[in-house]
Amino acid sequence: MRRSYLSILVAIFGCSMNTPLEAADGNIAIAIHGGAGTMSRDEMTAELEQDYRRTLSTALDTGYALLEQGAPGLDAIVAAIRVMEDSPLFNAGKGAVFTSNGIHELDASIMDGNTLNAGAVGAVRYVKNPIEAARLVMDKSPHVMLIGEGAQEFAFAHGVERVPMDYFYTEYRHRQLKKVQELEKSGDAGLTYKFGTVGAVALDKNGNLAAGTSTGGTTNKRFGRVGDSPIIGAGNYANNRSCAVSGTGQGEFFIRSVVGHDIAALMEYSGLTVEQAAREVVMKKLVDLGGEGGVIAVDGNGAVALQFNSAGMYRGAIDARGRRHVAIFGDETWPPQE
Ligand code: ASP
Repeated sequence: MRRSYLSILVAIFGCSMNTPLEAADGNIAIAIHGGAGTMSRDEMTAELEQDYRRTLSTALDTGYALLEQGAPGLDAIVAAIRVMEDSPLFNAGKGAVFTSNGIHELDASIMDGNTLNAGAVGAVRYVKNPIEAARLVMDKSPHVMLIGEGAQEFAFAHGVERVPMDYFYTEYRHRQLKKVQELEKSGDAGLTYKFGTVGAVALDKNGNLAAGTSTGGTTNKRFGRVGDSPIIGAGNYANNRSCAVSGTGQGEFFIRSVVGHDIAALMEYSGLTVEQAAREVVMKKLVDLGGEGGVIAVDGNGAVALQFNSAGMYRGAIDARGRRHVAIFGDETWPPQE
């Protein structure tokens, strides 16, 4: 969304439009996720585990290095997400899951916690890095969300790389589709939920929060289905008055629970900490509705919450105190015990 008249005035007079509840004092922090799900140590080879940890580390450090240099949080999260979109390990960009008719349709969104500007794309094909398309919708259009062909055309016209459909192919995801379709025939598909969406949230040196999320959606989804990831307030939300959130899990439940905005609202209106608010929504509200997944969130002081109700979540964080964490399984706790 283009900058409003008010935000231009704010820029001229140099005050933040959406002032944090507490001053951030130059703190920086970042958190990332690469999807939540039923990952267990028994199912993963040591080599694959190392690949995941290495790629999560690269994404985390790429974003953090930009924050250290004073870059906007928006740049840091896009850079971190691009690393995961370009990796076949995650369900975003290359490695995205298949739709029921054997193609790939991608969703992504981004939000600026300072201006509350946001951009999103839904069900786009051929777009190598959907997070870039979402950023362009925010920066270069008067809209918040573009979908399908219109979104693609817009993205390519603004220089986003176009790739053929088979760019997204991975044998692993194709096997997953076949397996889910087999189970569907036997009436069992609900048991196979596996995730892999990617996301990043950051606090930059100017005290601004930003959130981004990118996904291929869910395996065997109907073409045209759009999940929570590009829905502002559901799978993605940022507001300097509270926090930045990115989610992963069963999108339909995240939309119905308005997960991202709920966490922010609990902080802003009820005074919960980011940790408490994330726990409340992910461990109670979502669970009560029967939804599985998790979130990463960061507040205006650089405190980080990594909360999930699934067995594991690919995740990483560096908080304002410089504490670094890269993890996959449920028993790797955060914040580190001191
Ligand atoms: N939330 C995503 C969706 O429903 C899936 C995921 O997180 O893996 O589209």
